Amino acid sequence: MADNSSVLSVSIVTPDGRVYEHESSFLVVTTKLGQLGILPNHVPIITSLEVDEVRVKHGDSEDKIAVNGGFLEFSNNTATIVADSAERQDDIDVARAESARQRAEASIQKAQAAHDADTLARAQVALRRAVNRINVAKH
Ligand code: ATP
Repeated sequence: MADNSSVLSVSIVTPDGRVYEHESSFLVVTTKLGQLGILPNHVPIITSLEVDEVRVKHGDSEDKIAVNGGFLEFSNNTATIVADSAERQDDIDVARAESARQRAEASIQKAQAAHDADTLARAQVALRRAVNRINVAKH
């Protein structure tokens, strides 16, 4: 039987390794169905995530991590997020994300003119990643 606890632990992993690990009193993620807040002792859940920020509250502070999709598994007060890439707020290179955004926007325009649906879809996802990084870095 799981004990009631006032904290949960959050771990974010990518193919490059563990990007983030911390105890938390409240975790907020964005799923395909909208925002989901997770308090300690939440029921077990598995859900896929949008390219968006993950917010991890602990004490009076809140960490923000840009997460590139993936999924979240929560059970026994442990939240594990597995994503292709993820960056903590302080690790985001804003200039790099700005140039990725410009490249993606140019690629979207070209793909639209050429009616190239595959390139368009890839560029739209690249744009979402870049904008997410910029938003997380700046807020
Ligand atoms: P870029 O075109 O700038 O490479 P991308 O969206 O194609 O961006 P990804 O394939 O998602 O990049 O990520 C490749 C690696 O680079 C990952 O480890 C990711 O965390 C890191 N990364 C990508 N963009 C940034 C950034 N702006 N700041 C810090 N790390 C980044």
